Amino acid sequence: MQWISLNNVYFRISSFFMAPKFKSPDYQLYRQSSFQHRWLRLEHLIPELDKIKSSAFFKMESFGQSEEKRPLHKIEFGIGPKKIMIWTQMHGNEPTATMAVVDLLHFLMNDGDTYQFLRKSIYENCTLLFIPLLNPDGAERFSRRNATGIDMNRDILQLQSLEMNNFIDLFKDFKPHWAFNLHDQRNFFSVGNSKCPATISFLSASPDEQRSISPTRLKSMQMVATLAELVESESICHSGRYSDEYYPRALGEFFHSQEVPCVLVESGAFPNDPFRDEARRLNFLILIHAFENIIDEEFLEEMGTGPYFSIPENGKTILDGIIRGCVLEKNGSKVDLGLMVQEKPNFETMELESTYILSDLGDLSFQYGLTEWEGGRISENTELELEKPADFEIKRKTGESLVFKNGVLA
Ligand SMILES: [Zn+2]
Repeated sequence: MQWISLNNVYFRISSFFMAPKFKSPDYQLYRQSSFQHRWLRLEHLIPELDKIKSSAFFKMESFGQSEEKRPLHKIEFGIGPKKIMIWTQMHGNEPTATMAVVDLLHFLMNDGDTYQFLRKSIYENCTLLFIPLLNPDGAERFSRRNATGIDMNRDILQLQSLEMNNFIDLFKDFKPHWAFNLHDQRNFFSVGNSKCPATISFLSASPDEQRSISPTRLKSMQMVATLAELVESESICHSGRYSDEYYPRALGEFFHSQEVPCVLVESGAFPNDPFRDEARRLNFLILIHAFENIIDEEFLEEMGTGPYFSIPENGKTILDGIIRGCVLEKNGSKVDLGLMVQEKPNFETMELESTYILSDLGDLSFQYGLTEWEGGRISENTELELEKPADFEIKRKTGESLVFKNGVLA
């Protein structure tokens, strides 16, 4: 490793300076643009892991198998005392953070840029343990659940899934001081009841029924507040906060019961962003910012819970599409049409098929579309069926038409 084997003079000079913070525009230098999937499976991840396998910076091995005998991978970076465990895609159809982690691994293995001090600081102060794609069987099916049908984020008490058994062995063996539990959320989540989609949502889970603020939970709340501030400065769509009902079978709750602060990060929608690139970028920045903060720990001083609770709770104001002000010719009513995209795996082509579903109809003035269209007249022969693929033609005054055929925008 080049920067580990540099001579003492370099180290003596470097120890006089704080490692420079990561500058967000530089993310593009590390983004692996060819690694972009909504239906991200192990076959996509393995070539990425092969690229980093030869790097002396990482220790990579399998820590067991899924129920269908797919390998579970762990990647370690660093030799420091602050142990940080980061896992992605425990729900098989939630790929955004897996892409962000691959970008991050490329950042960590780089040794020819201006971030050598920062990288060295992470390496010497932290031990990072990445587990990308914890649910490869679910990913194969584009399913939240594992091959048996178990939701692994509700399995920490009984350990009925093989994946969670392997995960908990790894947890006991590694003994982390911090945990980052990375997921994707549905597109409809908004920042409060605003028109902003929650591109990122956070949660510091409750350790008990009373939603107590234990010292461990307080630490993760303070971390979340720090990270939310970063998101606010970085993106026009800010972060939301999940409500903190207690789910004893979930991972965040378990980590807090074990006195390990755990931050849940959910990637969400952004306008014109089908691959969730914005959330991917923010995940990358969030993790680097978290490492920087864990190293200097300054954020833990005198913050309290106020900044955490001032993050708006998630609302549900967002739809994938809204067609405003349509006139139904059969009775003259004026309605808005709300559309949500349904993604279904096609196991012949191994591609996802996206279909617009008519999800709502009426006054949608308190809801906001990631895409919005101007309405028009809908012929009296058209049957508008809720929860069915959008199948109608809207004739605008201008003479042009907006046509949906079997859920697809023509
Ligand atoms: Zn999830």
